[in-house]
Amino acid sequence: MKICPICKSNKVMLYMGGHFGKYECKKCNYVGNLILEKDEEKKNKKRK
Ligand SMILES: [Zn+2]
Repeated sequence: MKICPICKSNKVMLYMGGHFGKYECKKCNYVGNLILEKDEEKKNKKRK
């Protein structure tokens, strides 16, 4: 799951189909290659 570093929205799409390795936030119109990754499911956390 990708998160916008500016507004923390998950409305992040590949910019121009990903040709430039950039992302675009549909909420705040941020465009850049810096994006946050977040694990959607963390329920299966195992420790040894
Ligand atoms: Zn944003």
